[in-house]
Amino acid sequence: MPIRYDAIIIGTGQAGPALAARLSAAGRKVAIVERGAIGGTCVNTGCIPTKTLVASAAAARAARRAAEFGVSVGGPVTVDMKAVKARKDSISGESRTGVESMLRGLPNATVHVGHARFESSREVRVGGDLLTAERIFVNVGGRASTPPIPGLSDVAYWNNSSIMAVDFVPPHLVIVGGSYIGLEFAQMYRRFGSAVTVVEMAPRLIAREDEDTSAAIRDILEREGIAVRTGAECIAVAKSPSGVRVGVNCKAGDPSVEGTHLLLAVGRRPNTDDLGLEKAGVALDARGYITVDDALRTSVDGIWALGDCNGRGAFTHTAYNDFEIVAANLLDADPRRISDRIEAYALFIDPPLGRAGMTEAAARKSGRRILVGTRPMARIKRAVEKGDTLGFVKVVVDADSKEILGAAILGVGGDEIIHSLLDVMYARAPYTVIQRAMHIHPTVSEYLPTVLGDLRAP
Ligand SMILES: Cc1cc2nc3c(=O)[nH]c(=O)nc-3n(C[C@H](O)[C@H](O)[C@H](O)COP(=O)(O)OP(=O)(O)OC[C@H]3O[C@@H](n4cnc5c(N)ncnc54)[C@H](O)[C@@H]3O)c2cc1C
Repeated sequence: MPIRYDAIIIGTGQAGPALAARLSAAGRKVAIVERGAIGGTCVNTGCIPTKTLVASAAAARAARRAAEFGVSVGGPVTVDMKAVKARKDSISGESRTGVESMLRGLPNATVHVGHARFESSREVRVGGDLLTAERIFVNVGGRASTPPIPGLSDVAYWNNSSIMAVDFVPPHLVIVGGSYIGLEFAQMYRRFGSAVTVVEMAPRLIAREDEDTSAAIRDILEREGIAVRTGAECIAVAKSPSGVRVGVNCKAGDPSVEGTHLLLAVGRRPNTDDLGLEKAGVALDARGYITVDDALRTSVDGIWALGDCNGRGAFTHTAYNDFEIVAANLLDADPRRISDRIEAYALFIDPPLGRAGMTEAAARKSGRRILVGTRPMARIKRAVEKGDTLGFVKVVVDADSKEILGAAILGVGGDEIIHSLLDVMYARAPYTVIQRAMHIHPTVSEYLPTVLGDLRAP
C-alpha cells in the first residue's frame, strides 16, 4: 500500500526544507526525501565549505602581508591544512545538523532516506516505500559535470565535492575551468601555498562578465602568482612524472602544463537523469533541466521544480527564492513570479565581485541609451586605508528612464555593497535617489553618489 501524503518534496537543498516547514506549519502531511547529505550542495560541498575555506585563505594572506601594515607575525606563515579542513567540516557540519534537526522536528513531516524515483505523476518510490501525494516538489539540484576530456580515465582528479576531503597542500594544482567555482579554488589554494595554474577554454576568464571585469579579475589572480592559460581549445590530460600533464594547445605559450594534482571545475549538470521523470511525463529541456513556468510549475499539473534543477538559477538565493515563490502562490494567494527577480550574484575571490542586473555589454545589446559610471578602487579612500586597492566600481543606467540597469563592484566589500544598488533596482527608483543620498565616510559605498554623479555615454 502506498504511504499517502499531502506533499512529497524530493531533495533537502535550499528550497525543500523551507517548503517542508511552511507546508507542515500549514497542517499538511509532508514527506521529504534525501539520498545524500541533508542540506544539499550549498551546505555540504558548495557555498558554506568554500566560503569557510576562502576565509582561511584570507587569514593566510593577511598574515603574509602583515609587515605591510607594520605588524610582525614573528616568522614564516604556515598553513595547517588539517586544521583548515577541520574548521570547514565543523562549520559545514553545524549547518547540516541544523537543517536535519529542523526537518526531523517538524510536526507533520517525515524524512525518507534514499533515492527517489517517480513511478507515476503522483507516486514516488524510495527503496521499499511507495509514497503518493497530489503535490510533488522536485528540488534535486545538480552535480559537477565531467566533460569527455581525452585521457581523463587515466588520471586522478578532483571535482568540487571530492576536493572537500583534501587535508594537505597540493604542490601544484592545475584547475581546468576559469569560471566562478574554479577561480575561488584557484585563489584559496594559492594562498594555502600551492602553485596554481588555471586552464580555461574561452579567450578570457568568466567570459559572461564584461571584458574589463574579466581582465581585472585576471590581474588580481596573476598578482598573487596564479598562472592563467586562456584560449585552451584542445584540453587533454595524461599522467606525468610530477602527477598530471594538461595539454592546453594554446595559441601562445607552452603547449602543456605540468602539475601534481588536477581539479575539474567545468560546470554542473542537473540531477534529473535518474529520477524516473519520464514515468511522470515531466518535460525537460535539451540540457536535462526541468522546464517550468513563471511560478515553477512543470509540464505536469501538481508537480513543481525548484532550485538548480530547473535551470532558472544556479545559486542558493535563486533556489530559496523559488521556495518563496511557490509558497506565496500556494499558501498566501500572492502571485509572485520568477520574472520579478533581478539577477544578482557574487564571485567570492578576495576582493570579491558583487554583481546585479545587466552587464554593460548586455545593456548595450539591449538597444537602450545607456550611461556608465566607473571608479577604480585605487581612488576610493577606504580601499587605500585597507591596503586593498584592486578592482573598480561600475554602474550602468538607462539614460531615459534613469533606472539602474546593472552594476559590478569588484573590490573590497563588493559582495555587500552591491545590495544598496540592487535594492534601488527592486524599488524601480531612479539612480538620482542614490546620487543624492548621504553615505557614511569612510566607506566604499560613499563613492556610489560620486560615481552616479559622473555618468557618461560609453
Ligand atoms: C563549489 C560551489 C560553490 C558554490 N558557492 C555558492 C555561493 O557562494 N553562493 C551561492 O548562492 N551559490 C553557490 N553555489 C551554488 C549552490 O550551492 C546551489 O545553487 C544550491 O545548493 C542549489 O540548491 P538546490 O536546492 O537547487 O539543490 P542542492 O543544494 O544541490 O540539493 C539537492 C538535493 O537533492 C538530493 N537529491 C538529488 N536527487 C535525488 C533523488 N533522486 N532522491 C533523493 N534526493 C535527491 C541531493 O542529494 C541534494 O541533497 C556553489 C556551488 C558549488 C558547487
